[in-house]
Amino acid sequence: MAEKILVLGSSNVDLVVKIPHFHQPGETIIGEDRVIAFGGKGANQAIAARRLGADVDFLTKLGRDSWGESYRQYLGRHGLNRRFLLTDKKRATGMAMIEVSPQGENRIVVSPGANASLVPADLERFPHIWDGVKIFLTQMETSLPSVFTALNMAKKHDVLTVLNPAPAPSDPPSSRLLGLVDFLVPNEWEAQALSGIRLKKDSDLPQMAKRLLDQGVGNVVVTRGPQGLFFKNPHEEIWMKAFKVKAIDTTAAGDAFVAALACGLAAGKPWREVLRWANGAGALAATTLGAQPSLPRRKDLQRFLARHSSP
Ligand code: ADP
Repeated sequence: MAEKILVLGSSNVDLVVKIPHFHQPGETIIGEDRVIAFGGKGANQAIAARRLGADVDFLTKLGRDSWGESYRQYLGRHGLNRRFLLTDKKRATGMAMIEVSPQGENRIVVSPGANASLVPADLERFPHIWDGVKIFLTQMETSLPSVFTALNMAKKHDVLTVLNPAPAPSDPPSSRLLGLVDFLVPNEWEAQALSGIRLKKDSDLPQMAKRLLDQGVGNVVVTRGPQGLFFKNPHEEIWMKAFKVKAIDTTAAGDAFVAALACGLAAGKPWREVLRWANGAGALAATTLGAQPSLPRRKDLQRFLARHSSP
């Protein structure tokens, strides 16, 4: 049986409209037909880990509205246990309103809705949720107390923890929280926000990672878009270039990366192999349009890695 991963995180409905230009306050403009897609970092990562063959439970909170109902059915169709797809009676399903300019830049407003009401008590309702769990994976799109409580519970159950600190919180997390994290996986922006060190050149990365290790994190993996990744723990540093691919849309590349990292760790693969596996998943996700449609399946990733020598 596949190793079990527990994901706690957000589910958002993404409402995407292409617009002719970013407009001024008070101005109304006409956009193209809207596209609606299921997103949210928690759901993206849970689905990515499922596609990569892991046994996944996903704890999330949706609104009691039609979006919540469709999202619940969709997650169920992806093999996620409906028991942990919770409903908030008062708040709406989380939504991200995304405007995309002709230059491909975006402007996003996230309305967290029910995601923000995922609280420690929701976790405490399911003491058996930890049974058989090898890896716990979470992000920063639910309430901070839920993230802290879940990391704490994971450590009490001897579960390896992975935190993707996205979006970067405005107040850097405390060392109490960071001390519960075995693998911290920020992108370069998030690494700057968390370490308080500005990234001016590549050689700043070891210092940024060290600052986070000094706060109690076990291992730091900084994702670097088309430049690959940087890994550091107290004993080892690894720089890995990205796979050379024709990037079409890098949305959810980070989600595919972190989910693959969790799957590799759950399978007990050696370091370098885990990082290569994650690096490949991120690259593959960048070759396809959209968030969830671009998350690679296990077979595609295996085929990709077999065809590409290490970057
Ligand atoms: P995020 O989407 O969270 O900002 P990144 O942009 O750093 O994350 O991407 C995550 C990972 O995906 C990178 O570390 C890399 O492995 C892979 N990746 C992203 N963009 C590309 C690209 N253009 N070419 C190859 N790999 C990529």
